Amino acid sequence: MTIATINPATGETLRTFDPLTDGELERRLALAAGAYAQWRRRTVAERASIVARAGEILAAERDGFARLMTTEMGKLLTAARDEVDKCALACRYFADRAVTFVAPERGDDDGSGRLAGEIRFQPVGAVLAVMPWNFPFWQVIRFAAPALCAGNVGLLKHASNVPQCALALEDLFRRAGAPEGVFQALLVESARVGGIIGDPRVAAVTLTGSEAAGRSVAAAAGHHLKKTVLELGGSDPFIVMPSADLAQATRVAVTARTINNGQSCIAAKRFIVADAVADEFIDRFAAGLTALRIGDPVDPETQLGPLATPQIVRDLADQVARSVVAGARELVGGGPMRGRGSYYAPQVLVDAPADSPAACEELFGPVATVFRARDAADAVRIANDTAFGLGASAWTTDRAEAELFAESIEAGQVFINSMVASDPRYPFGGVRHSGYGRELSHFGLREFTNIKTIRRAATVGPGTPASLAPAGATAGATTE
Ligand code: NAP
Repeated sequence: MTIATINPATGETLRTFDPLTDGELERRLALAAGAYAQWRRRTVAERASIVARAGEILAAERDGFARLMTTEMGKLLTAARDEVDKCALACRYFADRAVTFVAPERGDDDGSGRLAGEIRFQPVGAVLAVMPWNFPFWQVIRFAAPALCAGNVGLLKHASNVPQCALALEDLFRRAGAPEGVFQALLVESARVGGIIGDPRVAAVTLTGSEAAGRSVAAAAGHHLKKTVLELGGSDPFIVMPSADLAQATRVAVTARTINNGQSCIAAKRFIVADAVADEFIDRFAAGLTALRIGDPVDPETQLGPLATPQIVRDLADQVARSVVAGARELVGGGPMRGRGSYYAPQVLVDAPADSPAACEELFGPVATVFRARDAADAVRIANDTAFGLGASAWTTDRAEAELFAESIEAGQVFINSMVASDPRYPFGGVRHSGYGRELSHFGLREFTNIKTIRRAATVGPGTPASLAPAGATAGATTE
């Protein structure tokens, strides 16, 4: 794919970039290795202060970063500003918590002191982050803030349609005070990712993206025996039961399907509604979707902007067409819009057979599929009838039903009477084809650490090792 900025609202090519030459890539990998040797010896508090500074710059330059995202991938400017805010929050969160998250833990010993144990969390090296365009700042920051605090260095291979976001993120960490090489953006094609993974100076890889990219990256990492975290696609269920506040559930359903112009991994994609309220839900939901104002993502009145590329429009229309051939009915007819830009009007499908694309593939755009369920158990059955397992949202005021959904839906996160959202304080990730590993919270930070066990026989000598002193006392100590 060409590395270029093409405004999805107009189709205009604004800038193109040459990929790195092999020589330049080699120089940057060497720089990362050199930077890691120094960075890992800094104290956690020093590293955290640089991440905190990055958060301050994000907050101070919010509008510029937001406009860059909107220009490159078409999200609403209002949503882009929210995304920058969330990035600043995550930087602050990890900067505040890093010392605690990597503080050594005392082992679960028998108390005799004969073989006292300690667990340390040490960095692993240069981590390659292969990232998608849909949240071009958030996806990168949620990897980089914890990884850098832990003492790793970052190599970003961003999606080819957001090169200026990639370069802005590299510049952000440089201006925050990160030494050269600690966070680099590599403008390379995806075909070169396997080679980078194989480089001995790269310790691990995290990918957020499609199933296909996940398979390819995991295969290369597996071949080279390197750790991976995969954050892949989803086809999240949104369940509505008769006891739910239908007006609120429907309003949120419209937002949950169309957030980020319908291009979010955790957007609700399959709406599973109890028979008793299905007709009313469908009427309200369809009305809400068709009422959305479609237009220029910079205009504050716009509620649905363009999709990120013409190819995404074509792919989505093709999935809908194949679903209709398979037996689905188009209740609200939208689809690709004529004129400039990659606009797509919302569609609602019903009666989608279980093996049709609308039921079993991820629809990455404003197309909703509604299913009817007999009862809560049937809703769980439909919700789990997917290869994915990222998020789920369930609407009910019945406690037993809420517990059934929380316990039985096979997903990385289940939200009751609320839309699925990521939060720096909580682990985020999927099961099944939605990937493995976790981002955010201390679980995410520790994914790219060497969780090292140290046992000391009594002969080593008395006293508490410095690394086991109370957390506050370790704030200035290195993690080594
Ligand atoms: P994508 O096509 O898989 O691209 C994601 C990244 O992977 C890009 O940097 C891309 O580079 C690279 N890539 C693509 N194919 C590759 C390959 N064979 N080997 C190595 N790298 C490869 O996905 P996308 O269309 O950008 O993003 C949408 C997908 O991401 C959706 O499925 C969505 O659900 C998922 N997603 C998941 C999460 C989560 O947290 N679980 C969050 C956001 C998005 P190029 O651009 O150069 O091709």
